[in-house]
Amino acid sequence: MAGPAATYDLGKLHGGLRLAARKSESTGLPIQSLPLPRQLILPIDQHVGDPAQPLVGIGERVLKGQVLAEPPGTLGAPVHAPSSGEVVAIEPWPVAGRHGDPAPCIVIECDGEDRAMESWEEPIPYAELPGDTVLQKILQGGIVGLGGAVYPTAQKLMQAVSCDLDYLILNGAECEPYISCDDMLMRERAHDIVSGARILLHALQLDCAYIVVESDKPEAIRQLAAAMTDAGDERLTLKQIPTIYPSGGEDQLVQLVTNREVPSGGLPTDIGCLVQNVGTAAAIHDWLQAGEPLISRITTITGDGIANPMNVRARIGTPLAEIAEFAGGYTEDARHLVIGGPMTGKSVSNDRVPLVKATNCILVMSALPANGPELPCIRCGECAAVCPVQLLPQQIFWYACADDEAQLREYGLIDCIECGCCDLVCPSHIPLTYDFRMAKARIRELADEKARAERARRRFEARNERRQREQSEREAELARQKAEARQAGPDAIAEILKRKRREDGD
Ligand code: SF4
Ligand code: SF4
Repeated sequence: MAGPAATYDLGKLHGGLRLAARKSESTGLPIQSLPLPRQLILPIDQHVGDPAQPLVGIGERVLKGQVLAEPPGTLGAPVHAPSSGEVVAIEPWPVAGRHGDPAPCIVIECDGEDRAMESWEEPIPYAELPGDTVLQKILQGGIVGLGGAVYPTAQKLMQAVSCDLDYLILNGAECEPYISCDDMLMRERAHDIVSGARILLHALQLDCAYIVVESDKPEAIRQLAAAMTDAGDERLTLKQIPTIYPSGGEDQLVQLVTNREVPSGGLPTDIGCLVQNVGTAAAIHDWLQAGEPLISRITTITGDGIANPMNVRARIGTPLAEIAEFAGGYTEDARHLVIGGPMTGKSVSNDRVPLVKATNCILVMSALPANGPELPCIRCGECAAVCPVQLLPQQIFWYACADDEAQLREYGLIDCIECGCCDLVCPSHIPLTYDFRMAKARIRELADEKARAERARRRFEARNERRQREQSEREAELARQKAEARQAGPDAIAEILKRKRREDGD
């Protein structure tokens, strides 16, 4: 399937792999629209940040586009009803983001009428509005990064406006095998991507955007070039990059396009770049120009376990089983269901899980890539040669086994993008990426524990301070009363003592 990309002229990108694309299977048909399912299952936690809080109750009738749940804090995205119907349950349901474990979901029984809110299809005259008003509007659309990161888009943009930005980069580099939803989107909805890019430029008050596509997507390039010509907007530039995995990683893309390197532990905005997925740009267009919040997405359903691989546009909340059935059903060989691609995807054990905002690919495989028995590291260095972040995976692996948090930080575990390149080339079949993911989770847990302990310590100290303050206040009051009594004479003392006894409940 793969070989190191050592001979490929990548210019600025270190490492990476040339992988068999396996995309043609799913790009033969135009994007298909999935019929409305009977039930929609909507996880309230589909974004980075705290889960949204339900605003509807069981038995309530809802319209397409109605807000069902709102995030409680400053980081999150609302969840909208993808169609009209009745809320029949708010209960735990198996979801993809947790490997199929249950998470709270709002379940809608669709009425088949697909009735929308009144505001539907009202375009926003964004060019006449200040940038921050446009950002506030984007906030209400439930839009998150559709490349898989699901970071709430409005908050990402709001954080970016306080940085010294030079470039908006629209990421059309869909470098992971099998996944073709962005390619099909660029082929069929290039004008909407360009429109989304122009809205983003206005909101950010920027005057330079690159739309970046891999050179092996000629039809997408043709359609985007035509849409940009139609728009006649000189702020937009189309850039082609080599097809290599993982050139679509944010930091890697920034480096390929601008030759700027994102610092360790930093963000592209630290070096003047903001990256958004092309699907996110189209979702912004849909929301501001057609009034449609993020209630559907294009997803690739593919693999040798599915009869007719294709790309479908489906409502968020559609059970994966219905998408598989629409794509001709499973083949006899279907054994493994993976959400995402073969490099970064996660296996799930059942197809009742719903399509969520993050689901860019449903991969049904007859067998997972064969991996021999794990052997000791022979220090061949292959993993370091392909690491796009220029890490030393063999060293990180050593410290992950030793649970050495200090060295893991020193060797840059935090910068690992979990691309899986090191796994693929390791002759000892060491599941490096899995070990790194676990090590990161342990470090996060430790940090959470430290933060919890710190909060408890502060609470304890505050409580002690409060008790000491109250004690001092009581003593001062007693001293004051004694002084008052000494001045007032015996009758007043008797009165004060009586009052004190009353106060003490004696
Ligand atoms: S590729 Fe595998 S065997 Fe070679 S150095 Fe890396 S971890 Fe060790
Ligand atoms: S998974 Fe991490 S360590 Fe391995 S190649 Fe990718 S970025 Fe490097």
